[in-house]
Amino acid sequence: MDKLFAVLGDIHANIDALEVVLADCQAQGVTDYLCTGDIVGYNACPHECLEIIRSLNCPIVVGNHDHYVSSQQNLEDFNPHAAAVIEWTRQQLSEDELTFLSNLPFVTTKMGITLVHATMDNPEGFGYVFDHLQAESHFTHQVTPLCFHGHTHCPMIYEKQIGAVYRIDAQDFKLPIGRKYFINVGSVGQPRDGDPRASYLLYEPKSRKVRFRRLDYDIGMAQARIRAAGLPERLAERLAVGQ
Ligand code: ZN
Repeated sequence: MDKLFAVLGDIHANIDALEVVLADCQAQGVTDYLCTGDIVGYNACPHECLEIIRSLNCPIVVGNHDHYVSSQQNLEDFNPHAAAVIEWTRQQLSEDELTFLSNLPFVTTKMGITLVHATMDNPEGFGYVFDHLQAESHFTHQVTPLCFHGHTHCPMIYEKQIGAVYRIDAQDFKLPIGRKYFINVGSVGQPRDGDPRASYLLYEPKSRKVRFRRLDYDIGMAQARIRAAGLPERLAERLAVGQ
């Protein structure tokens, strides 16, 4: 059977979105999973999401929220909403789960594919890639032809040819040979590109095709869980607008 990868990340403890995404993966015939990190943070089901992602037994890189929750990170410099959710999440997880998160690598490579949460120019610094310049500095550190990431919660494809970086706006794209690709798979649990639907990416190595998937899920339920947990109202509101 030909391999079909599902690349997913920025799940952010949103179980309602994650379940819809995984059902779609099964329907699409996914054979392998890759995770670009940020399993926890923002939403109300960190334990449930972590359990599911761990059961996939797949390569995972650490996201900044996974890192802050599982390290002794001082939260004084964080905005109060972010700090409140990190504190709350720490209390939801077991020692074993916190250890699991703290042991995740910043970068990993599988079958010639690199995974990083933010960028390769400083994986531990969690910088954002929103423009060509930032993509260019990432590419100087990308060794494999293909690298998947997340962090901005905005699906995006950057291509590196000799001497130039291009942004490619496509939902379906066949990766030509001889170029490098840096692909943001979007966010399962808190999309920020103005489209509130859950996002992930399919990659078929044989045909070299990538395909973004966007899926409706029960946003009302995810919002109700945030409110029931006493997490900041803003986190519930932003889910409905995808920002
Ligand atoms: Zn994130």
